[in-house]
Amino acid sequence: MRPSERVMKKKKVRVPGGESRISLIRQKKTKVSCGICKDRILSANNNRGLSKTEKRPSVVFGGVLCSTCRDKVFENAIKVKIGAKKEDDLTVTMKKFVSQAIKRIGK
Ligand SMILES: [Zn+2]
Repeated sequence: MRPSERVMKKKKVRVPGGESRISLIRQKKTKVSCGICKDRILSANNNRGLSKTEKRPSVVFGGVLCSTCRDKVFENAIKVKIGAKKEDDLTVTMKKFVSQAIKRIGK
């Protein structure tokens, strides 16, 4: 079995001779959703055969967060950095992205 086949879904099929064999099925593509609000990101998809820039926008958190959540993350990151807001006041998921965003702002 090739390494690429190991991740494929296996399904037992009965062949005309009467015996059952394992056939490999390529798993369906999933829709890309935002990491915070779980809404669909229309500008991103994970189809095979597309180039990197066709799969997701090249902004920070592109293909991970939707545009409204990305704005909120950077707003909170700046507030935390200048000390107007405490990092502990944020929700757990927001905190994860904000700490990543602060690293990017620091550069
Ligand atoms: Zn979102």
